[in-house]
Amino acid sequence: IERTFSIVKPDAVERNLIGAIYQRIESAGLKIIAAKMVHLSEDKAKGFYAEHEGKPFYDDLVAFMTSGPVMVQVLEGENAIARYRELMGKTNPEEAACGTLRADYAQSMRLNSVHGSDSPVSAAREIAYFFAEDEIC
Ligand code: ATP
Ligand code: MG
Repeated sequence: IERTFSIVKPDAVERNLIGAIYQRIESAGLKIIAAKMVHLSEDKAKGFYAEHEGKPFYDDLVAFMTSGPVMVQVLEGENAIARYRELMGKTNPEEAACGTLRADYAQSMRLNSVHGSDSPVSAAREIAYFFAEDEIC
């Protein structure tokens, strides 16, 4: 059993898509074992995306992620990291497979509606960045 970290990004919260995205996560057999709404500060967003610091899209990414509230959640299931990445689809919605969250909801490469951890090391870091162990059921 594996855990991964997920964000419903500001573009999706703003369009009232929290419920639709949670429905798709649960229908895929992933269990939501912690969740909360947060409005990221600039420092919190910069720390979260530290691996991308210096890349051309970094400043716009931080501005976008702090532009409104997000939902952050921990998902649990067999092979949860890979299965949730598959459910999200590719970063660029034009390349995302039909039926994925990004194909259906993302508006652009930046406004791409969801985040998911890309490895066990990232998942552990990202979960701990937002949740204390006693907040996870
Ligand atoms: P995420 O980490 O959000 O799950 P990802 O792993 O598919 O997405 P990353 O390469 O980690 O993609 O990039 C992090 C985020 O930065 C992307 O989800 C997207 O919002 C933004 N981003 C990445 N590349 C670009 C780009 N070329 N132009 C604009 N935004 C980008
Ligand atoms: Mg990533």
